[in-house]
Amino acid sequence: MKKGLLIILSGPSGVGKGTVRKYIMKENDLRIVYSISMTTRKPRKKEIDGVDYYFVSNEEFQHHIDHDDFLEWAEFVDHRYGTPKSYVEELRNKGKNVFLEIEVNGANQVLSRVHDTGVVSIFLMPPSHKALEERIRRRKTESEELIQKRLNKGLSEIKEASRYQHVVVNDKIKRASKEIIDIIRNKIKENE
Ligand code: 5GP
Repeated sequence: MKKGLLIILSGPSGVGKGTVRKYIMKENDLRIVYSISMTTRKPRKKEIDGVDYYFVSNEEFQHHIDHDDFLEWAEFVDHRYGTPKSYVEELRNKGKNVFLEIEVNGANQVLSRVHDTGVVSIFLMPPSHKALEERIRRRKTESEELIQKRLNKGLSEIKEASRYQHVVVNDKIKRASKEIIDIIRNKIKENE
């Protein structure tokens, strides 16, 4: 069986990666499986352990670093986030297309470690800084201090966008999702 793709989606906090992901996951023919990350961040309202993330303590996260369990991991605004390695490999070997929603440092680690042709990297770009700020505020999940930290981080992430194979502007969520779905569909064909 042909090994599945490794799809990387990055973009600044608040750009709409989660919403785009929901549209993509509806396309059953793409055989996409979402890679659930591990994080030391506390769950937000409505987030479920084992669905949105595996929420773990600092000690547990450190244990996984020490045992080389992560394909990549990174620190993002006071917390750590990582992709479990064995899960990704297992699924790709079963022909599933694995979807990683990760920040840019983690994406760089994956791109420098995984060298097969099945990797596709996409950066989701906000249409403007103002739009990003409005979106992150509307979400009402973070304090003012954290919003500022996330916006600053977002600006430095945008500078890295050219490292990705594709940059998609999230002007309208459905349009942007369709553009990403087309990118993935083309890559699946190319990979066959
Ligand atoms: P949030 O706290 O908003 O859920 O996530 C913060 C940032 O961390 C987002 O850009 C998100 O895509 C990223 N992220 C989530 N999981 C991982 C992961 O496993 N590895 C890395 N490097 N970043 C992640």
